[in-house]
Amino acid sequence: MTTCDVTIIGAGPYGLSAAAHLRKVKDLEVRVFGEPMSFWERNMPVGMFLRSNWTATQIADPHRSLTLEAFQAATGNHLPAGSGTSARPVPLDSFVQYGQWYQRQAVPDLDQRKIVGVESNGKGFLVILDDGDTVKSRRVVVAVGIASFAWRPPEFEGLPSSLASHTSEHRDFRKFAGKQVLVVGGGQSALESAALLHEGGAEAEVVARTHTIHWLHGWASKTLHHGLGPFVRKVLYAPTDVGPAGISQLMARPDSVRRLPRWLQDRLRKRAVRPAAARWLAARLRDVPMWVGRRIVTVKICGERVNVRLDDGSERVVDHVLLGTGYRVDVAKYRFLSDELVQAIRHHNGYPVLKPGLETSVEGLHILGAPAAWSFGPLMQFVSGTNYASRSLFNFIAGNGSRQMRDENNDMKAEGPIRYEAVATVAKSSQKPIGAVVVGGDYQGLGIVRSLGRQNVPICIIDDERSIARFSRYATHSVGVKSLRDERRTVDTVLEVGHRLNLREWVLYPTRDETVAAFARYRPILTEWFRVPTDNWNTIQWVWDKRNTYRLANDLGIPTPQTWHPRNVDDLEQVRSDPPFVLKPAIKEHFIYATKAKGWRANNRTELRELFQRAAAQVGPGEVMIQDLIPGDGRHQFAYCAFFKEGRAVGSMVVRRNRQHPPEFGRASTFVETIELPLLEQLSERFLRAIDYYGLVELEYKLDPRDGQYKLLDVNGRTWGYHALGPGAGVDFPYMLFADQIGEQVEPCRARAGVTWMRLVTDLPTAILQILNGQLDWHAYLQSLRNFQVEAVFSKTDPLPGLAELALLPYLSLKRGF
Ligand SMILES: Cc1cc2nc3c(=O)[nH]c(=O)nc-3n(C[C@H](O)[C@H](O)[C@H](O)COP(=O)(O)OP(=O)(O)OC[C@H]3O[C@@H](n4cnc5c(N)ncnc54)[C@H](O)[C@@H]3O)c2cc1C
Repeated sequence: MTTCDVTIIGAGPYGLSAAAHLRKVKDLEVRVFGEPMSFWERNMPVGMFLRSNWTATQIADPHRSLTLEAFQAATGNHLPAGSGTSARPVPLDSFVQYGQWYQRQAVPDLDQRKIVGVESNGKGFLVILDDGDTVKSRRVVVAVGIASFAWRPPEFEGLPSSLASHTSEHRDFRKFAGKQVLVVGGGQSALESAALLHEGGAEAEVVARTHTIHWLHGWASKTLHHGLGPFVRKVLYAPTDVGPAGISQLMARPDSVRRLPRWLQDRLRKRAVRPAAARWLAARLRDVPMWVGRRIVTVKICGERVNVRLDDGSERVVDHVLLGTGYRVDVAKYRFLSDELVQAIRHHNGYPVLKPGLETSVEGLHILGAPAAWSFGPLMQFVSGTNYASRSLFNFIAGNGSRQMRDENNDMKAEGPIRYEAVATVAKSSQKPIGAVVVGGDYQGLGIVRSLGRQNVPICIIDDERSIARFSRYATHSVGVKSLRDERRTVDTVLEVGHRLNLREWVLYPTRDETVAAFARYRPILTEWFRVPTDNWNTIQWVWDKRNTYRLANDLGIPTPQTWHPRNVDDLEQVRSDPPFVLKPAIKEHFIYATKAKGWRANNRTELRELFQRAAAQVGPGEVMIQDLIPGDGRHQFAYCAFFKEGRAVGSMVVRRNRQHPPEFGRASTFVETIELPLLEQLSERFLRAIDYYGLVELEYKLDPRDGQYKLLDVNGRTWGYHALGPGAGVDFPYMLFADQIGEQVEPCRARAGVTWMRLVTDLPTAILQILNGQLDWHAYLQSLRNFQVEAVFSKTDPLPGLAELALLPYLSLKRGF
């Protein structure tokens, strides 16, 4: 038996990169096991090209000296022309050679034996090798990739692998030459395999359950599919009956395109421009039939062939079914981990819940790579995630160690981010003050701009709408961009603006939920350039998806409205309560953009059925929730708002929404008042502590007059509409967050009661309607008009946004539906 400080299991990109980083820590004995790049060499098809681009295909190392360029220079192994930053993707065999070269440089003493067991042994772990040898290690880093997670749909259970196999079981598809092969799946590995089968002489056909074909880098046919609308889709697909995937095929068949009206041809050509690698893959699949939105119903062995029946009634008998059905992470499938360890790892749907340093709930046990995606975002599924993962691991382990280790850590930090180095150097050498980037410039963004601007903080506003905040005297930069809806594109856009305007170390403020999700998911990339107060995905997913929010609230004893999650119309039978109901999305952005509403009311079961079908068509059936409708308008709605850090509220405020627009399911408050309600503080802080929340947050509640309980409706992990009320009541939320981000001391404070905020442009029509309906007394309304303290937009000291709002009102009403 030998001993060491850290055992790394795996010699793929993650294991090798982690080893290269940890070997920088003096006196830390690190042992690394695994066959170098074996998954890439054995489980990916010959002839494949990487889907990640040149920059994203670099395995991170602490000195940035083991790059693809350095590999080319050192080995004379020139990658195909057009590599580098240009379009042509990296071939698989070159990437394997690069990984093996990296291993020889960084981990020359790699031990290629297999690990068959890891057990906890008091202060650390006992690692068991396949030849019976053992290693005692203080920490274990698992970086064994996704091979054990290959997903086979249950319909194919029991079929021999000669008839149905997973894509990961093959290296060379040429053995299928002359055979009929049905490829199941619409993702990258299915498509790439179909292209290789076709090129290798097989008769390939693709069937995908999804209605969209995902090409590369988030460029999905979905973009096109959604952009076209149902009528055009019908026209478009009728001639070929191939579903959205057919667009690329159509573009490659000029005669089909010519049948379409001119304007549509132009639009298609314009929209069909996509990343070169995706375009290239689409071209390779031009002659491969694809069927989207189809499910496999039955699978039968038919002699030496397989009979497959689809849900449209069609059947085919093929020589082989290739399952491009991807991978499903489940830590329990890591067979070498003892049962005791598997049970001790906190997990969510098979994904380990990880802490900084990618440490599991078992102290000293770290998991890198794709399983870290639930906690640290989708980047962890790709080679480019090695940068964040290795640094995080290094910082964690070095930070826990000796002073010497910390010095090493600082050296590494001083090296700065791996990408955008040139700009980073310029930024570091300049003495520019730190500012804030506000993403979204409506009245909510304006509140942030004014709060920070008053403290002389420079501000850059990024928006995809004609918004009012850019007219503020405090806005120092304003950038209009095309769209901030798609998460990955938003992140790219924000990074691009940050680099172009040299906004290094500025603090990011999202104002919409989808931007919060994007920042949380891609936090590792963003933190290379910005200060990102948005918490990591591990925390944000509890507020982003209401299914998570309600589940946790129920576990914590926080009341919530009675809620059902039907998967289809038949499941509505399970809604055993009396109408009225409210239909709401689990993820509100998907629904709000499509319907401009926060929820729909169903007064009876017929309406419930109809509305469920409409809602399911918008967001998918799994995302529609049915709730018992709590009676009462805005006056029954309350909110707790805070700057929360390390388990306590540094700044807090409780309000009553006196009026909201629309009155029943208010998308936005129009008249709000601060109040004292300690119960809401207790409930909210319990929730925020449970998810270890950091940052600005608003929790919305409704008082149920039937049982007197305050029921949690929603949690917003960002600033909220009326946050500008805060400074008037003694709590300047945006500035508190900024001060904390730049390392200043922030004094705890609580809002005083009785301060009111109004948004006149929406409150006036809301109040008039209520007066006409007899729900509001006009004397009371005039009283509120005379006495409110804070107006959302109009300000004597910063008048232009108010004037801009009046001018932009028709545009904003159309765009947002108010
Ligand atoms: C078809 C396909 C195409 C892909 N294309 C791309 C792409 O273009 N770009 C991209 O960034 N990502 C791509 N990926 C994702 C890619 O797999 C991961 O980014 C990458 O492999 C993750 O590296 P890893 O180190 O976590 O795992 P792996 O590369 O799988 O390495 C696992 C290592 O663990 C070792 N190991 C496993 N079990 C044991 C054990 N019991 N004992 C000792 N050693 C063990 C293996 O020998 C290997 O060395 C693709 C994935 C697939 C399936």
